[in-house]
Amino acid sequence: MEQKQQKIKNDSLGLFSSTQTIINEALNYLGYPEEVYELLKEPIRMLTVRIPVRMDDGKIKVFTGYRAQHNDAVGPTKGGVRFHPEVNETEVKALAMWMSLKCGIVDLPYGGGKGGIICDPREMSFRELEGLSRGYVRAISQIVGPTKDIPAPDVFTNSQIMAWMMDEYSSLREFDSPGFITGKPIVLGGSHGRETATARGVTICVEEAARKKGIGLKGARIIIQGFGNAGSYLSKFMHDAGAKVVGISDAHGALYDQNGLDIDYLLDRRDSYGTVTNLFSTTISNKELLEQECDILIPAAVANQITIENAKDIKASIIVEAANGPTTLEATKIVTKRGILLVPDVLASSGGVTVSYFEWVQNNQGYYWTEEEVLRKLRIILVDSFEKVYEASNKHQVDMRLAAYIVGIRKMAEASRFRGWV
Ligand code: GLU
Repeated sequence: MEQKQQKIKNDSLGLFSSTQTIINEALNYLGYPEEVYELLKEPIRMLTVRIPVRMDDGKIKVFTGYRAQHNDAVGPTKGGVRFHPEVNETEVKALAMWMSLKCGIVDLPYGGGKGGIICDPREMSFRELEGLSRGYVRAISQIVGPTKDIPAPDVFTNSQIMAWMMDEYSSLREFDSPGFITGKPIVLGGSHGRETATARGVTICVEEAARKKGIGLKGARIIIQGFGNAGSYLSKFMHDAGAKVVGISDAHGALYDQNGLDIDYLLDRRDSYGTVTNLFSTTISNKELLEQECDILIPAAVANQITIENAKDIKASIIVEAANGPTTLEATKIVTKRGILLVPDVLASSGGVTVSYFEWVQNNQGYYWTEEEVLRKLRIILVDSFEKVYEASNKHQVDMRLAAYIVGIRKMAEASRFRGWV
């Protein structure tokens, strides 16, 4: 148990310090002085809260939660709230910084934020989850709001949780505040297309990367690691585009079939946490899945999956990161050197926050768009952002991750300087 805790701590520290390393490198490429890095190297604000909840057995349980705000020079901060047993302060800080980069890459008027609560929603009742969601909002209410910091869904949180949080915030403020949070149900001011937005964004990146590599999506062999919100919709979009999904996985194992998997069946049988491989007797491990034959590999699960150990064994010619941080910095260098085109997380997974921005805009103007309108706008933004990152990678002769950081940090650095902060 202690060993596991230590590993989680080390992994989070690794994520955080590698984020700092590339932000520093990106600022150097852009020619900013050291003080800009000093400001941007960690969040300007980090709140830790304790949330008492009366559980179904009548006892009070006290949960720990966090909300980090990286930098608000460009505008309010924005980012999801994850409910996870292993979430910790360092991870939340790193994820807030990644949100800044995502918002910078797709050019939204936001800085990055992130929240988390240490809990296991898979073991909690609906009523307990509602109490926890409302308690979290009461605890962070001073530092969030439609013009300050706007939460959203993330790992193991969904539109129902957003609805409770919005309701709690609205009752604290004594007026209806749909723009306080995004990812809401449509009837409460949610946006069409938000639920599938992350997967749509990844799909657009897959299409653009395939175009650059001269690969047609029809018949292309795809492996998707992870079958949660992003991974499951993604498997459907890839399948619909005529690609052959040959591998998928969940937290318990992986399925691989070079003739293609029956995606409709798998989608039908997965539970709400994305578990499906438990229904099969012949599975392989997540680690083995990454090394199977394919054209496009999409890690859509957790961090640190492609490392110095397995980077040389990856068979794909394109990696599109739908998860946060699935490839380490060393592995990024190895796969890039091997000619694999890697589309980094901060670009590939920015579809979610882009449609969250659309949701917030619609809430602010009280005028709602069709799904078609949302998807059209999303495509324009993502195709343009992919091109900007690809060009920066060619111009500076750097890998796509560093290129994405160069594109993503520029606006925030410039805004901080114009404001006279650094
Ligand atoms: N949690 C998502 C992300 O990491 C969405 C954030 C948002 O919509 O604000 O990008």
